[in-house]
Formats: sequence, C-alpha cells, structure tokens
Amino acid sequence: MGHTILIIDDTKSVRQQILRTLRSSNLFSNYFEATNGIEGFKTLLNEKIDVVLCDVEMPGMDGFKFLTMVNSRKELHDIPVLLLTSHEEMATKIKGLEQGASDYVTKPFSPEELLARVKVQLKIKTLQDNLKQSNQLLQKLSQTDPLTELYNRRHMMTTLESEFDRSNRISSPFALMMIDLDHFKRVNDTYGHQQGDKVLQSISWEIQEQLRPYDSAARFGGEEFALLLPETTLGEAVVVAERLRQRISNVQFTGPISGLKITASFGLAAIPHKKINTTKDLIRLADEALYAAKHNGRNRVESTPTDR
Ligand code: GH3
Ligand code: MG
Ligand code: MG
Ligand code: MG
Repeated sequence: MGHTILIIDDTKSVRQQILRTLRSSNLFSNYFEATNGIEGFKTLLNEKIDVVLCDVEMPGMDGFKFLTMVNSRKELHDIPVLLLTSHEEMATKIKGLEQGASDYVTKPFSPEELLARVKVQLKIKTLQDNLKQSNQLLQKLSQTDPLTELYNRRHMMTTLESEFDRSNRISSPFALMMIDLDHFKRVNDTYGHQQGDKVLQSISWEIQEQLRPYDSAARFGGEEFALLLPETTLGEAVVVAERLRQRISNVQFTGPISGLKITASFGLAAIPHKKINTTKDLIRLADEALYAAKHNGRNRVESTPTDR
C-alpha cells in the first residue's frame, strides 16, 4: 500500500502545480484535493492520509482553523500538516507551528524544497506508524498466553480489578468463573505432554467460542482457566457454566488422542455479595466453589450461594 497525501488550497493552479511536483517523485500513490478547510477536514476523517499540505489563507475555514479542528481529534494528531504560506512574515509561520503544524512551505515554492520538506514529514510519519504497530503487537504479546492464545493471568488480574471496580460503581452484577480440567495429569501420563498441550489448546478454543462479546477468558494456571462475566448474575453464570461444561465434555480430539474424553469442574462466585469486598474475596470464593465441585465428583458446576 502506497502513501496518501491531502492537498488543501483554494487556488486550483496552486493545487495543480503541487500535484505535478509530487507526481514527479514516487513518494505517494494516492492524492486527495480539497478547496477549503472543511472539505479537507472531512477527507482527513474519512481517508487514511499520511501527510497534509494546507494553505493558510482560504475563504471560510483557513489553515489555522483547520489546525484547531485537527487538534480536537486525538486520532489525527500523528498526521503531519505542512502549511503553505505566501507570507514571508515570521509571525505567521510561528503561529502555524505553535498551533501544531509540522513545517511550512513558502509560496511561490521551489519544487525541490517542497519535495524535500514533504519527504521528511513522510519519513517521520512512517517511522511513527511502524512504532505504533510494534507497540500494539508487543502489548498483545504481553497480555496473551502463548499456548492457548487466551489472556494470561497478569492481564486477567488487571481486567478483574477494573471490572470489579466498575461493577461496584454502577451497582451491576459481575461473575467470576474458575474452570479446572479433571484428572489432567492422567492425560499427560497416558499420551505425553505434547498431546496434553493439544488438549489445552482445543479446550481453550472451545471456551473462546462460547464467550459473549463482553466476556473475557484467561489461562489462570496450568490447566485452569478464569472467565470474567460482566453484567452477569450468579444465576446467569450458572447457565453459562453448565453449557460450557457440556461443550467441553463433547469436544472431539483427533490423532493419537482421538476418543479421549475431557471433563472440567467449575467454581462460581459473583457480586453483589455480603462477603465479597475485594477481588481477592471473589477469587477465594470461586476457588472454594471449584474445590467443592472437585470434592462432589468433578464434571460439575458449583457456586458460592448468594448471601445478602
Ligand atoms: P483434578 O481433577 O483434581 O484437577 O486432577 P488433575 O490431574 O487435573 O490435577 P493436578 O493439579 O494434580 O494436575 C494438573 C496437571 O496439569 C499437572 C500438570 O502436569 C498438568 N499441566 C499443567 N500445565 C500444563 C501444560 O502447560 N501442559 C501440559 N501438557 N500439562 C500441564
Ligand atoms: Mg489561498
Ligand atoms: Mg489444577
Ligand atoms: Mg485439574
């Protein structure tokens, strides 16, 4: 995908001259034109623009007002704006730079200078885009469990804290579901650790598939998972868990483990609850319920009774 530039100027001959100059280089593959600030701003919102060239003096919305509009939208802050000014006056240039312009070009411009200045801004923009992309990838990696691609425990704890606070603040219910696979040690002992990993992946995909859009699932430990269910009462969580329990027991495996049956035990706790004041309390009660599910025969759902 090539780069895209937006040229805003009310004078057609200026736009054409700029276009000719830019086309003589191979910096851009897409060109947008606008005759005033409003039209330019609309294009900026609707298209993926890498660099903007904007005239200062235009009827209606001038270059400074255009900069003010750009400043008001956070998602536009990284798009460099070069001002086109016919003023040699220092004051105009300084005002533009202070209002967020990245650079300026004085009209009548020399084609070489225009190209050189645009090139610098495009380079900075490209570096910034790459950096943003790497950061996003790093962030995703730091939140994800590599084997199952579910959230990892650390990210789950952070999300739990904020969801717990949010639910308390707006007095809405919130449920935590702990899931532990039954007799998983046997799977490893019988088929080996590698096949055990495959089971963990298949079960994780099944869990992920059953989630509602606002739920989140994490690998809490080795063969233990945690589901955060915002806006969900204990009763509703029991229904979700019961469905998931059945789905897990019906997962079909392939290869050396075809025919293997996996079951899981579920422990639930939810707020509001008289004994739950912190996320620690919530986790402890869900864990106690999970322990009860194991104790009462596995492949079952247990919940901490509501107490209020
Ligand atoms: P229970 O029904 O009481 O939960 O029995 P269990 O065997 O599942 O429980 P236990 O906690 O004794 O054992 C969990 C096993 O999970 C131990 C460990 O070998 C296995 N395990 C933990 N993490 C992984 C992993 O990343 N990959 C594989 N293959 N196995 C794992
Ligand atoms: Mg003008
Ligand atoms: Mg376990
Ligand atoms: Mg287990």
